[in-house]
Amino acid sequence: MNKINSILNKFDIWDHSPIGMCVIDETYKIVFWNQCLADWTGLKKTELIGKSLFHFYPQLKEPKYKVRLDNIFNGGAPTIFSAKLHKYVFKAFLHNNEPRIQHTTVTAVPAGEEGTYYALFAVEDVTEMTHRIKEYKIMRDKALKENQQRKEAEKKLQESLDELEKTNHELEEKNIELDQFNFIVSHDLQAPLRTLSSFSKILQKDPENILSAKSLQYLEYIKNASKKMHLLINNLLNLSKSTRKTIDESVFPLDQCVDDALLSLQSQVEEKSAHINREKLQEISGDKILITQLYQNLIGNALKFVNDKNPQINITFNVNGDTKIFGVKDNGIGIDSKFTSSIFEPFKRVNSTKYIEGSGIGLAICKKIVERHGGNIWVESQLGGGTHFKFTLGNIN
Ligand code: ADP
Repeated sequence: MNKINSILNKFDIWDHSPIGMCVIDETYKIVFWNQCLADWTGLKKTELIGKSLFHFYPQLKEPKYKVRLDNIFNGGAPTIFSAKLHKYVFKAFLHNNEPRIQHTTVTAVPAGEEGTYYALFAVEDVTEMTHRIKEYKIMRDKALKENQQRKEAEKKLQESLDELEKTNHELEEKNIELDQFNFIVSHDLQAPLRTLSSFSKILQKDPENILSAKSLQYLEYIKNASKKMHLLINNLLNLSKSTRKTIDESVFPLDQCVDDALLSLQSQVEEKSAHINREKLQEISGDKILITQLYQNLIGNALKFVNDKNPQINITFNVNGDTKIFGVKDNGIGIDSKFTSSIFEPFKRVNSTKYIEGSGIGLAICKKIVERHGGNIWVESQLGGGTHFKFTLGNIN
């Protein structure tokens, strides 16, 4: 007992260690049990000292422990019972009854007599650390999974973009083909139409007086239909030209385009006693012929869609921040708000205007011209309250 007391005194300093400490001799008798282990296990030092460790922890008799401990008593290298493989050597619980996960190192300590050793158990409570590692692993796995999902989403997005680009390319090619077809058809239709129109005129003159009144009326129908068809074909050709024509860029006063457009519309201006109010416009860079065509179509519509009123037309110009906004405003019949974007599509005519002559292509041409100049076109209108077409011109495309 005296020997044990002297040993106790030797190890007493470890009572204050936050690590569980236990010392056993080569007969597996407990010679030291520190306060930390007493707190964790509820087994007091006085109950254990001098007793066999196997009495309290019989599982340590198993070869996986015993073989390694015997090696320690021969002065062998330290051995580790890791938390991962053993969880705990001295079963102990936290306040919430959760078992303390332990990392135990057993070291040989010289026992005084030559060649004899004690086994010193140093037990670390790694419960919190193990939980943290577990949480960290869950977070890491989640991040890896999210990263993987993000990569897959990016891959899918890229595939969709590639697909879209391919479709766009195909669409562009189809548009070019369609445009060529439009050009060829509208161009080639002109000659037979001219023949039809001239022979109807000759027949209508009826030099030998052989046609009945009914036949003459039918000829009148043919003449009118040819006229309509001629207008349609002409507009189709213009639409095609507005896309195909290479841009002839120069700097010129925009007023010149308005002058030229008004000149070609002079007879309608006079016929309808239209009043044109002009804002002074500045110089721009663009294709003069196309921009003149743009004004001609917009002013032409302003003269056309007025019913019985005298047209009051304003050639407008405003600056909004860095953006210059040009426009043509009228006091005409206006456009129902539900049609304000579709009227720019080819052949789109609004019901209320179907008795006014036209082919529904003029605004599609305007849109093409503005877009080729890097701009936008839109309309502000109210049914019965006049119409204001506005457009911007950016960089030439
Ligand atoms: P078109 O004049 O040959 O009918 P457009 O493409 O120029 O063809 O115009 C499309 C349609 O937009 C017209 O049929 C008409 O319904 C409407 N529209 C165009 N300009 C005006 C305007 N100034 N006032 C009222 N409606 C308009």
